[in-house]
Amino acid sequence: MPHKGNLLLASLSPGDLAALQPHLQPVHFEQDQVLFEAGDSIEATYFPTSAVISIVVTLSSGQVVEAAMVGRDGVVGASAALDGSIALSRAVIQLSGGAMVCSLVGLRSAAMQSQPLLSLLIRHEQTLYAQAQQSTACMAAHHVDARLCRWLLRSRDLSQSDTLLFTQEFLAEMLGVSRPSVTVVAHTLQQAGIIKYTRGKIHITNLAGLQDAACECYETVKLQY
Ligand SMILES: [Zn+2]
Repeated sequence: MPHKGNLLLASLSPGDLAALQPHLQPVHFEQDQVLFEAGDSIEATYFPTSAVISIVVTLSSGQVVEAAMVGRDGVVGASAALDGSIALSRAVIQLSGGAMVCSLVGLRSAAMQSQPLLSLLIRHEQTLYAQAQQSTACMAAHHVDARLCRWLLRSRDLSQSDTLLFTQEFLAEMLGVSRPSVTVVAHTLQQAGIIKYTRGKIHITNLAGLQDAACECYETVKLQY
């Protein structure tokens, strides 16, 4: 059952799942694919099974900064199913992988007939909001070393892999820092034996070391979920 890969779908009652099933479709997404831009009307809801999706804010300079990361523990676009809203930020695929797509109409009608499903979606949107707030605090108060570690830990949890395919440009963009600072931090972590970095690929070699070096935001967001 492909939907089992998403923890929200896996937690649904048999009745709720049966109501959603006809509207669910498995899809595969490639890295850098954009699901929607800020201002777009959201056309579907995405429950990642192995893909990892970044919710990012784009500035007029073209610079983008990540506000939240959604993977197998979440859903992207659920608020649109509830109130037909316009996207307030961009959603882009951070790590290639699978997701279950659900039509807005299908999710809305199922949620309107089930209080537990509606509550689950509302609670998830609140968690997403909290994650974005945490990202703001993290950016203002925590050092880039600790932020990169936090970010790698969450990516690892969501992709369930110790090997992550990221270029330094991509990491710099997600963390909102310059590429040279990412190079310096990646080098320091490699010297400490925490990661191994080759072109476009990060391998986590010392998980406990990475956890020690990460800022508190990793645990905070994990607890919220
Ligand atoms: Zn932090």
